[in-house]
Amino acid sequence: MIDRGYYGEFGGAFLPEVLVATFDELDVAFQNAKNDPSFWKEYTDIMSTYSCRPTPLTFAENLTRHFGGARIYIKREDLNHTGAHKANNVMGQGLLVKRMGKTRVIAETGAGQHGVATATMAAKFGFKCTIYMGEVDMERQRPNVFWMERLGAEVIPVLEGTRILKDAINEAFRDWVTNMDNTHYVLGTACGPHPFPEMVSYFQSIIGKEAREQILEREERLPTRVYACVGGGSNAIGIFSGFFDDPVELVGVEAAGRGLASGQHATRLSSKDASIGVAQGYKTYFLQDNNGQMKETHSVAAGLDYVGVSPILSHLRESGRVRFEAATDREVIDALSLTIQKEGLIPALESAHAFVQVFKEASTLSKDDIILINQSGRGDKDIFTIADAFADPKWQDFIKKKAEEYHHA
Ligand SMILES: *Cc1c(COP(=O)(O)O)cnc(C)c1O
Repeated sequence: MIDRGYYGEFGGAFLPEVLVATFDELDVAFQNAKNDPSFWKEYTDIMSTYSCRPTPLTFAENLTRHFGGARIYIKREDLNHTGAHKANNVMGQGLLVKRMGKTRVIAETGAGQHGVATATMAAKFGFKCTIYMGEVDMERQRPNVFWMERLGAEVIPVLEGTRILKDAINEAFRDWVTNMDNTHYVLGTACGPHPFPEMVSYFQSIIGKEAREQILEREERLPTRVYACVGGGSNAIGIFSGFFDDPVELVGVEAAGRGLASGQHATRLSSKDASIGVAQGYKTYFLQDNNGQMKETHSVAAGLDYVGVSPILSHLRESGRVRFEAATDREVIDALSLTIQKEGLIPALESAHAFVQVFKEASTLSKDDIILINQSGRGDKDIFTIADAFADPKWQDFIKKKAEEYHHA
């Protein structure tokens, strides 16, 4: 179908015949929107009145002093409505759905964050909304299920397979095949078949555009290095894309989970554990065994716990433009603690992966250097996990009781 949609050897659209026309329609609608200057204006208008754009750049004065090296700045994507950069993607796709004249959206969700963001967008635009979620994930994420339902979405438990994210993706595709006429599938990150990687990156590029302008205005020079965490890759590509043509080092940080040796991690680009394959409609690095079976992944941050990664990032690794590192669960909890205490900011567990790598490198740079971190989301959602990690008996008992109340509500 395509000559576009490839990034080096990665990407593409490996689709069942029945979906080809729908993907073509989406691609045409997206290209038309992209070439229409009024569309980007409509997008930035809604992001500035409904979310919190432009999100500010915060100078982390205390962390800078603590490490005694580079000046550390934080791009505040946590201040978006619903608490993360995911708002940029879902609102952008929502505007596209309106242009296509469709009336229903569906999405997959693991931890529930993308489900809540999609249900929020659907409520705002008046779309019908169905969210697919593995039964295991639904049990673990009751508060998010609660909000999706209040927002008017139907949340369908997926009982197939291991009843987690990858099974929910399969169900969502099945729904789409049956309801293509009126339905759009709101994919949550810069993965999947073309045009999703390009489209999601386009909406997330707003982060990098703003950040570049903001740092130039404030410091009158570019950062030395930019850091972002990498799940599917959308927040990283979003901020990196503002600096692709600049002499700026770009660093993506993946989840090393319980450590590489444990096998319980989600490093696809920073270790040698992943290999190139085609799955879920696109070609990239996957954590898979020799038979192409997807491996189990683990991260303390649910948003980084994924077997594939954006084909755009796979290409940027092969070309050497982006350096990839990894942070363990333990390192993440320590970095989170320090950030909370020094700056009064609560990054999401996902975002804290980027902070880990910055804390390893900040003191090796000079006071003339500038570091920029993308704080992709806020950590309020992680209260149970963080309390557990700190193993403070006083709070653990309280939190356990609260968690049980949710489960039995
Ligand atoms: C979902 C999520 C991520 C991971 O997604 P990317 O597509 O890699 O950006 C990172 N941070 C937060 C806060 C998230 O909610």
